[in-house]
Amino acid sequence: MTENWPAAPLWMFACDTCARLYGRLRWASADQVWEMIDSDLLALRLAQHIARDHYRRVPSARHPGCWLCDHYDRDEPESELGQAMTVLGREHRARILFLPTLAALAG
Ligand SMILES: [Zn+2]
Ligand SMILES: [Zn+2]
Repeated sequence: MTENWPAAPLWMFACDTCARLYGRLRWASADQVWEMIDSDLLALRLAQHIARDHYRRVPSARHPGCWLCDHYDRDEPESELGQAMTVLGREHRARILFLPTLAALAG
């Protein structure tokens, strides 16, 4: 990835799981061979972890004009589908904390 990485928030380094996944993600992304294979999976696992264990840290604002934010923001938040979409939306918005913007908005 050539785009600049954001400075990951300090609380991520105070969490063993965040620090471990983030360290592996940066390592994988710096390696041309492993980039395609590993970094997407690591980013997904880190976003899932943050959405579950640090959900208060996830930015709540939707990204302007983002089709994924629109997709996950359902009218029926109490339904099973609505709840699943709420979690997926959290995972999606967690990515902006630690990924370059273009990569963050792509998943
Ligand atoms: Zn964590
Ligand atoms: Zn979005």
